Amino acid sequence: MARGRLAPTPTGFLHVGHARTFALAAARARRDGGTLVYRTEDLDGARCRPEFASAAMEDLRWLGLEWQEGPDVGGPDGPYVQSQRRPWFAEVWRRLQASGTIYPCDKSRRDVDRALTAPHAEDDAEPIFPPSLRPALGSGQAAAEPGSMNWRFRVPDGESITFVDALRGPQAFVAGRDFGDFLVWRKDGLPSYELAVVADDHAMGITEVVRGADLLLSTARQLLLYRSLDWTAPAWAHAPLIQDPHGRRLAKRSAGLSLRELRARGCRPAEVLNAPLESLVD
Ligand code: GLU
Repeated sequence: MARGRLAPTPTGFLHVGHARTFALAAARARRDGGTLVYRTEDLDGARCRPEFASAAMEDLRWLGLEWQEGPDVGGPDGPYVQSQRRPWFAEVWRRLQASGTIYPCDKSRRDVDRALTAPHAEDDAEPIFPPSLRPALGSGQAAAEPGSMNWRFRVPDGESITFVDALRGPQAFVAGRDFGDFLVWRKDGLPSYELAVVADDHAMGITEVVRGADLLLSTARQLLLYRSLDWTAPAWAHAPLIQDPHGRRLAKRSAGLSLRELRARGCRPAEVLNAPLESLVD
């Protein structure tokens, strides 16, 4: 049976782009009487705020989205909350360690910049981690816990990672060229986004992940995690990112297009979901 999810990160108010992606996720999960679960991705305590988490749920309910709560999907208190699931992420770190695919990394951002032979694109938040900075194979195998270390996944250099996106068709990314050894655990004691999202999509039995196209490259990374963990990966559907009328990507800080503001201006849910963006701008 289909099982989808809404997984916002509460670092700000949701905007019209989130609304459209989440509405698509809800519709696809419901196609054959499937289930939709809700997960608050609030691991980064410095950036996430509880008031944004409750605002997101309220805004999505106003929009008409519904998800299942209760013991089956989130316990009696409602939806899943990642900050309450740390033991599970530590368990997944252990499984990755046992698979021999991750290693502790003591290199700083400056070490990485120094070792890079070519400048990386400005808009690429994470430069390719230089293979010359990898420790020897087997490093970290004896560690009982992650400790205060970054841990990275050793990508299979040159391997093409492919998947078929339900909305965009076949996709291919080359490990070591399009992305490098990525973080699975942070030295501040938190799992990385890639680890947490795979751990939870698996635990929650998600059959299709619907999210924005900004995460296409993350999907390639996540497929490597599924393989190392010997878990079946879900299907994928990456929704187009919508841009503001100036051609800029919408961000949580994009004024005027948050669901809060649109609602305060008297916009109806159907307009938020369907109207051309120009007509929504103040
Ligand atoms: N929580 C992530 C975000 O809000 C999305 C995670 C996902 O859909 O995989 O950007």
